[in-house]
Amino acid sequence: MNIILFGPPAAGKGTQAKRLVETHNMVQLSTGDMLRAEIASASELGKTVKDILASGQLVSDAIVIDLIKANLPRAEAAGGAIFDGFPRTVAQAEALDALLQGRGAKIDRVVRLKVDEAALISRIEKRFADQGRADDNPDTYKERLAVYNAQTAPLLPYYAAQNKLFEVDGMGAVDDVAARIDEALSETA
Ligand code: AMP
Repeated sequence: MNIILFGPPAAGKGTQAKRLVETHNMVQLSTGDMLRAEIASASELGKTVKDILASGQLVSDAIVIDLIKANLPRAEAAGGAIFDGFPRTVAQAEALDALLQGRGAKIDRVVRLKVDEAALISRIEKRFADQGRADDNPDTYKERLAVYNAQTAPLLPYYAAQNKLFEVDGMGAVDDVAARIDEALSETA
């Protein structure tokens, strides 16, 4: 099974993806984590994307599509992928559909975590304090939220039209949200 965890930055996608990795035979594919690893290792790609991440803007579609492409065989071997933070544009979603189709696979479900903006802001303040991620500072976070609304939210009708979109209340305790996700994954489409 291949699923997309969908939602704005700080909606809890990473936390829930990690839990699904433990409870299902799946691999988390987080383009944000991959890009941060490139920056940490000071690779050429890392140097190219560093300032873009710091600004809260999106890196080019080609870069993230290549990263996903390189990791698909690993996810396939494990039994499926949990896409976290990818796709973020319609072009990325179309490229992902084509890549999976070429491998005889598809996206099975898109689970949208719905959270309100006030809750997001307080979550991000806590994450900024705990982890010190530069792009979690309040100004950059606002930019990331704006980028989400402008470029990523338009994917919702894309997946709704394919009957793949499942909406889950992303508020409350991690375990409660996890239970709602499990329900969405077991529901008949
Ligand atoms: P994330 O950890 O998913 O919030 O991603 C952190 C940052 O990495 C984003 O603000 C973007 O700059 C970049 N990034 C991650 N995934 C993507 C993507 N699918 N497309 C473009 N940029 C991305």
